[in-house]
Amino acid sequence: MEKTSKAPFYITTPIYYVNDVPHIGHAYTTIIADTLARFMKMNGREVFFLTGTDEHGQKVEKAAAEHGLDPRAWADRVVVRFYDLWKALNCEPDFFIRTTMEFHEKGVQKLFQKLLDQGDIYKGEYKGWYCVPDENFLTDDIPQEKDGTKICPDCGRKAASVSEETYFFRLSAYQQKLLDHYAACPRFVRPAGRMNEVTSFVRGGLKDLSITRTTVKWGVPVPGDPAHTIYVWFDALHNYLTGIGYDWDPVRFGKFWPPSVHLIGKDILRFHAVFWPAFLLASGLPLPDCVFGHGWWLKDEAKISKSMGNVLDPYILIQTLGPDPLRYFLLREVPIGLDGNFSHEGFIHRVNSDLANDLGNLVSRTLTMVGNYFQGTIDPPSPEETQDIQIQESFMAMKKNALAHYNSYALSKALEEIWAFITIVNKYLADNAPWKLAKAPGLRPRLARVLYQAAAGIRGVTALLAPIMPGSAQKIWEFLGESGMIQDLRFDDLAFDDLRLGQTMKEPTPLFPRVDLKAFLAEGAKSKEEKIMDETKNEHTIEPAATPVTPAAISSDPPAPKKNLITYDEFAKLELRVAHVLEAVKVEGAKKLLKLKINLGTEQRQIVAGVAETYAPEQLVGKKFIVIANLQPAVIRGVESQGMLLAAVAGDKSAIPFFESDVPAGTKVK
Ligand SMILES: [Zn+2]
Repeated sequence: MEKTSKAPFYITTPIYYVNDVPHIGHAYTTIIADTLARFMKMNGREVFFLTGTDEHGQKVEKAAAEHGLDPRAWADRVVVRFYDLWKALNCEPDFFIRTTMEFHEKGVQKLFQKLLDQGDIYKGEYKGWYCVPDENFLTDDIPQEKDGTKICPDCGRKAASVSEETYFFRLSAYQQKLLDHYAACPRFVRPAGRMNEVTSFVRGGLKDLSITRTTVKWGVPVPGDPAHTIYVWFDALHNYLTGIGYDWDPVRFGKFWPPSVHLIGKDILRFHAVFWPAFLLASGLPLPDCVFGHGWWLKDEAKISKSMGNVLDPYILIQTLGPDPLRYFLLREVPIGLDGNFSHEGFIHRVNSDLANDLGNLVSRTLTMVGNYFQGTIDPPSPEETQDIQIQESFMAMKKNALAHYNSYALSKALEEIWAFITIVNKYLADNAPWKLAKAPGLRPRLARVLYQAAAGIRGVTALLAPIMPGSAQKIWEFLGESGMIQDLRFDDLAFDDLRLGQTMKEPTPLFPRVDLKAFLAEGAKSKEEKIMDETKNEHTIEPAATPVTPAAISSDPPAPKKNLITYDEFAKLELRVAHVLEAVKVEGAKKLLKLKINLGTEQRQIVAGVAETYAPEQLVGKKFIVIANLQPAVIRGVESQGMLLAAVAGDKSAIPFFESDVPAGTKVK
């Protein structure tokens, strides 16, 4: 069922296998999700964007053993690759879930138990193909050889046919219910072609699904039968529930469930469009609105993957250009349902032609003329003439179409619309030749009109590009003399003539320098060698991306201009509230950190605080202090922190200012 246009929007990526080295495929999915999340926010919806990592299974256990670490410590080390990449690509998930988080494991066990109690899970015998040296069951989709055996895809050796005790999910009982759902919601799977694939697979008959293993130790134990661990799909898919607060944050869960879209690669369609809705039907939970299977990026017509040896390192593509050209290219080049072939030539061509020429030049010459002819502040313009009104009308038509495309996830079409309008503005400037008008003193009001129209066009384009190129859009926004964050703008309010007269524009700095293909490829190859050396040294930082939350962390931020003063508006953005501590426990393996459950009046939250060297957990229970309530959630040592408490910090010691008087939890501090 489609939700109303302003309903909360919940978008997910698959959780990535933590052992993988992130490549362009991971980046693509996450960039699409980040773009849609940013778009929906600017379109006036409350948004939750979830990504994360799948951290259980034999491969993690094995890699950890090879490095002399326990699996959790290994995961802590390698998960940083994903944190770092999302930061580098300007992707800002609302939460990063790791399947080793305690609330996830508890949630999975609870759902398992429920289905077991109601008979949707039962114990039986699993017959499958097992690779003895790799200690690994082959997945069911691996085809049989001519002699009836199966070959292990990891090592190429013959697998053995074995059987073991396992728990099954009664998938066969949900065949008709799934078909009924597909018929009632034909947009449950998108693009439409993928719906047909799924329907015919289910019509072909569903077998019950083995969902536990006794051979895999590193996993969520089956409740009451710990010789079994819960197998990957039943564990991993439930992140979409636990990550939004299932069984631990009823307010958030109630607001955002069910998901608006699960964004996935088409190779995991069956798991998301068949198994997952069957699990949810069994649990009695509403189904997601949509499972969207995007295409793959191919290199030389082959799927990009570790086993193909053609992995593209996103860092090479962003190290000199920043994240926006890559974000633009991936979303512009191919409609998201189809496969695309990646070539460096194609990438550089788009950067030079679309970004440097069309958009970059438009911004730079318009604002340079505003600077040269009007010292940055355009004079009162002449009344509009027909061609000036036309550009305004083109903008409003383009906005309507671009928003419709964004809303249906047709991001390449949205960009086509926006670029067609950029061409119109460029032509308008060429036709009206402001550099000629500038030479005739009597035509100053006309000159002002032409530059105003061009700048207003740039302003509109910038807003519509902000979800795709957030960094560059913010830069242009500031060139235009706008204040605040462009992402705070709402598309409902976006009109062509919102550009205020009298606004002072700035001298632009280059946005998208032209790139020389040969030099770019040479540079890329060099850095790749350096990176490979880094891999062998294994110099991944062990500390998760978020820094411990203490006031000291604030002061280490770059100072605000003008002697470190902040404006009143900047201060007013901080939401400071009185928190009442309900529970406090130590964070395992981190001697400085406490995990606190706090009451904020209207809701309960969990925060992590670096005060354990001064305060024992029991000293804090019942206490009241100030927290920053609107800080972006962060994951610290694998624990989510939804806010930050204020404390004085000197060396290892900290002192929390407590409230002596009886203020209610949630009271605002100003
Ligand atoms: Zn093998």
